[in-house]
Amino acid sequence: MKRSFLFTKTSKTAPADEASDSVKYLIRGGYVNKEMAGVYDFLPLGLRTLKNIEQIVREEMNAIGGQEFEFTTLQRPEPWQKTDRWDDDKMDIWFRTELNAGGQLGLAPTHEEPITDMMVQHIKSYKDLPVYVYQFQTKFRNELRAKSGIMRTREFLMKDLYSFSKSEEELNEFYELTKKAYMNVYNRLGIGEDTYETFASGGAFSKYSHEFQTVMPLGEDTIYLKKDKSLALNEEVFNDEVLKDMGEKKEDFEPVRAAEVGNIFKLMLKYSKPLGLFYTDKDGKQKDVYMGSYGIGVSRVMGVIAEKFSDEKGLYWPENIAPYKVYLIGIDEKGAKEAEKLHDKYPEQILLDDRKDASAGEKFADADLLGMPYRVVISDKTLAEKKVELTDRKTGERKLLTLKELSSILK
Ligand code: ATP
Ligand code: MG
Repeated sequence: MKRSFLFTKTSKTAPADEASDSVKYLIRGGYVNKEMAGVYDFLPLGLRTLKNIEQIVREEMNAIGGQEFEFTTLQRPEPWQKTDRWDDDKMDIWFRTELNAGGQLGLAPTHEEPITDMMVQHIKSYKDLPVYVYQFQTKFRNELRAKSGIMRTREFLMKDLYSFSKSEEELNEFYELTKKAYMNVYNRLGIGEDTYETFASGGAFSKYSHEFQTVMPLGEDTIYLKKDKSLALNEEVFNDEVLKDMGEKKEDFEPVRAAEVGNIFKLMLKYSKPLGLFYTDKDGKQKDVYMGSYGIGVSRVMGVIAEKFSDEKGLYWPENIAPYKVYLIGIDEKGAKEAEKLHDKYPEQILLDDRKDASAGEKFADADLLGMPYRVVISDKTLAEKKVELTDRKTGERKLLTLKELSSILK
């Protein structure tokens, strides 16, 4: 991609009401555009980043048997009426409206009801189970507070997976499998080290659920992390009863700020029963379907990564998430020509700053702001040695490479 082609421009200013530098960088870099509080557009660089995160999540969900599909964001009331949730008192984050043709509809805050309702047509016999379906889908929530940039928005991208199992044991097995898949996801996203599987309330149906919490000062949640980091509990369950049950002592834990990047939940029969989802077992008897739901806030995760991987100059994306691997700058006539050639060979890997009206200093500043993992400079001076200069954006480490050596990084 060439900067001269990319329609987004970088800017020196960002909305003053943004809470963190990383969100300001995302806006200043043209990754996202703020429509209003809690509502952001994803621009080309931001969308590429988001899609890279999505792809990692997709691969891990496929690896545990997930089948991808996509449900609608417009939802009809009936399935929600069956579970008694078509109600502002029960779901305080609804965006709902009247249809011109008569009747009501809602904008999806989550998808348990419509998906379970549809599954009634597809799950009949024990042979149809288990089933694991997932999607990347826009959710709408009328959040009271939306002050954490893309980490808490009123419209956001979620990966939501729903599991349908023949028995509680089968559900438990899959639940444990997703825990591992989730940690694979966070490890691949570069936030695994700071992300903890955290005990949370299980609601009326299960003892616990689990949140995946990434420790960071800007996180909205407080979790209680055991000092040896072997156990984490969220605020809901950090009490005497639970600690006693777990054989733990309060003083072994300390409160830390964290962002919830995922949440897994055993739903048991909460949705299947009221929506009439059952199956016929080998012996011809009607049996209950045990469900689970498993969310990852994909756009929130992007905000968390931006926050974790940023410094006083801008962003520094991990390699497998960055929209491009290299920010390429050609200096002098020969350098510019050589840079263009290299770009044309690897247009998917390189963001070439070919702007004629920008100084070298401005280009370096943008390289720092936009945060591709490597900045590469080609100039008459480097070419005289038949080399290019590569700088690691994160560490600042600089080295001279031959074009051939650079090619092996780009492949
Ligand atoms: P929170 O406690 O942060 O409000 P939640 O428990 O309501 O989240 P879930 O319904 O479990 O969230 O949604 C699954 C995931 O979607 C969450 O773990 C989080 O990563 C993400 N998410 C939830 N709400 C938002 C939001 N308003 N903006 C961005 N991501 C969100
Ligand atoms: Mg939660």
